[in-house]
Amino acid sequence: MAAIKKNLCHCGLTGRDYRSCCGLYHTGVKLTDKSPLEVLMTRYSAFCESNGEYLLKTWHPDFRPDTTAKKFSREIKNGGKWVKLKVYGVLVNPERTEAMIRYEVSYRDSTGIVRSMCVSEFVFEDGRWFYTDEAENTDMSTLPPELDSADTVRAELDMITDGSKQ
Ligand SMILES: [Zn+2]
Repeated sequence: MAAIKKNLCHCGLTGRDYRSCCGLYHTGVKLTDKSPLEVLMTRYSAFCESNGEYLLKTWHPDFRPDTTAKKFSREIKNGGKWVKLKVYGVLVNPERTEAMIRYEVSYRDSTGIVRSMCVSEFVFEDGRWFYTDEAENTDMSTLPPELDSADTVRAELDMITDGSKQ
């Protein structure tokens, strides 16, 4: 993993390198306590790093798969290579207890680059955001407009980076 040192973090969202972006969460220095976007970006990076332990930790216990961190990490390592995350919109309820994020991930497998549009759901519990599940519907004609709004993504990113500029 040494090759990523001076490059942008896998998530590509904050303009920082891995160590000062998602690495801070993976090592437990920062918690996903500000925004559901923290969970999404750090989980994406955890897939890139084959970090099954972090993925299980940020997965709400009611939805978490019944596997071990070791097994999960190995599965990820043997899967496709994650190449890109693009976030389209973040919808958070006014109480900031529930959220949805619409995004696209690209990964490379034996057939080439595969792109997948997703909508993930998150909850805030015990002072932290958790990933719960995938929503089945990713169709923008029936989803709230916030899920296709760069402004919502910027607003959440501001919350994450505010006051901790390296
Ligand atoms: Zn990152």
